[in-house]
Amino acid sequence: MDDRHLVLPPEAVDVAIQTVRELLGESGASIILQRANMLDYLKDGRLAPGKRPTFGDVGRVTQAMIDVYGPKSASATLKRAGRVQFTKWRENYPLAIGLASTALKSLPADLRLKTLLKAVTMAAKQIAQVDTEFIEKPDGTLLFKTYQCPYCSGVHTSSAFCHTAIGALDELAFWVTNQAWQTEEIECRAQGAETCTFLMKMS
Ligand SMILES: [Zn+2]
Repeated sequence: MDDRHLVLPPEAVDVAIQTVRELLGESGASIILQRANMLDYLKDGRLAPGKRPTFGDVGRVTQAMIDVYGPKSASATLKRAGRVQFTKWRENYPLAIGLASTALKSLPADLRLKTLLKAVTMAAKQIAQVDTEFIEKPDGTLLFKTYQCPYCSGVHTSSAFCHTAIGALDELAFWVTNQAWQTEEIECRAQGAETCTFLMKMS
């Protein structure tokens, strides 16, 4: 299914804008937005009033990062952006993520992560109308699948493209378990797969 037309909640877009400004600075953020043909989305460092960015817009920003910085450097920056974004989501969506974490404290680490990922699937649907699925594999690794994905929306690549989501999942797992986890995108909608599928294992 083409997900380019799906609209993101303005608060989520504002979090993304603040993240990009922090990582790339004002001029870097402007260069990327100009390349994506979206300079008018920004006003005084925030999302311009009346703009409703779509998943396709986010995909264009990701593509612009790769065009400007090259795939290697862009993937590192996007992963960092994902980590920062998760931290900001916790602050901006305390009901979906933050409060759940208080209830999680008494659980063992692996159960905390699974419980949080289940909360994320519900929050994704509620906040962004995104269908996700979380699967525990018998070997202890975890699969997180998303049926719509802003990060690679409208993009066609030969390799997996959703470094921002990888960074966010790595940070989420580290934050809730206090242990380093490694996330790998094993299938990507940008490659023509039905879902972006992330494999998470403790590193
Ligand atoms: Zn993907």
